[in-house]
Amino acid sequence: MDRDQCFVEIQPFPTPALIPQRELRPGEQYRFHFDMVQCIGCKCCVVACNEQNGNPPGINRRCVGEIEGGSYPNTRRFHVSRGCNHCLEPSCLIGRPVDAYKKDETTEIVLHSPDTYIRCQYCTWNCSYGVPQYNPQ
Ligand code: SF4
Ligand code: SF4
Repeated sequence: MDRDQCFVEIQPFPTPALIPQRELRPGEQYRFHFDMVQCIGCKCCVVACNEQNGNPPGINRRCVGEIEGGSYPNTRRFHVSRGCNHCLEPSCLIGRPVDAYKKDETTEIVLHSPDTYIRCQYCTWNCSYGVPQYNPQ
């Protein structure tokens, strides 16, 4: 493989459509779309998320990881930007002592309620993806 084959051509990203465009059909839910081929690992999404949500330092609701594969010289590296998956069967909801997490019946988005929250941090153990972050503030 020559050097040029190691690089992926970045395609212009289509203008995102505003949501909701229509009512969800049975079995559908909103989700966050991520294109690993387009991601360059700059972590601007982490910064933007923290600014949008006013998170203190060290609390990242979104994080960016790396995946490497292949054998030299045919190696590739991808970046994975991940946050809450709004899972179909959210493990963060299992065994919770109060309803601080709930899956919205209309959008199927998983929501956290700071008003119901009792600081037990059970969700941080239960989520398979390490998404919930304990914020003592
Ligand atoms: S790290 Fe985040 S902001 Fe940067 S390219 Fe990847 S998804 Fe986009
Ligand atoms: S917090 Fe974790 S388990 Fe809960 S919906 Fe998000 S990714 Fe799924």
